[in-house]
Amino acid sequence: MSHASGGPEIEQLIQLLSRLPGLGPRSARRAVLHLIKKKEQLMVPLSAALDRAVEAVKVCQTCGNIDTISPCTICADPRRAESGLLIVVEDVADLWALERAGVGPVRYHVLGGVLSPLDGVGPDDLSIDALARRAADYSEIVIGVNATVEGQTTAHYITDRLAGTGVKVTRLAHGVPVGGELDYLDEGTLAQALKARTSF
Ligand SMILES: [Zn+2]
Repeated sequence: MSHASGGPEIEQLIQLLSRLPGLGPRSARRAVLHLIKKKEQLMVPLSAALDRAVEAVKVCQTCGNIDTISPCTICADPRRAESGLLIVVEDVADLWALERAGVGPVRYHVLGGVLSPLDGVGPDDLSIDALARRAADYSEIVIGVNATVEGQTTAHYITDRLAGTGVKVTRLAHGVPVGGELDYLDEGTLAQALKARTSF
């Protein structure tokens, strides 16, 4: 299967890199060649950065974010509590995307996935119990899971689960994206956008 053209160390590096999302064997091979050509400027610092990250990375025990401290920087920031908003996301990547978007001083809860009976993912596999324990500390829980079937099933499950707590539960709006043209949208999105219309 592998056409070894470098030594075993190089082949192993290619194999490991090809497991990264977005990188197949071909692009992994190109990346490794690039690293080798730029050994001093890139490969050595990358290796050192990986070593440091391996030592430093922590999963926040409160929200599931990835940081070098736990509780993470977001959970440790008291100003984040003032808005009373807790946004529930599937993955750390979604949390980081919301932070990049500058959504404001909010806190997050990372579920670690969505309910998916076909893949054997049930409520106990996600951090839903932990969310239920945190909910009372916030005035509003915003469910920010993906607009997929599994995401929406998960959103309904969480809403039911939190119903007894008295905390307001909302979800992100579904509809026309910023800069979107109606003619290019699929029917499902258009129908959702009409349903979720808001007043000016
Ligand atoms: Zn945290």
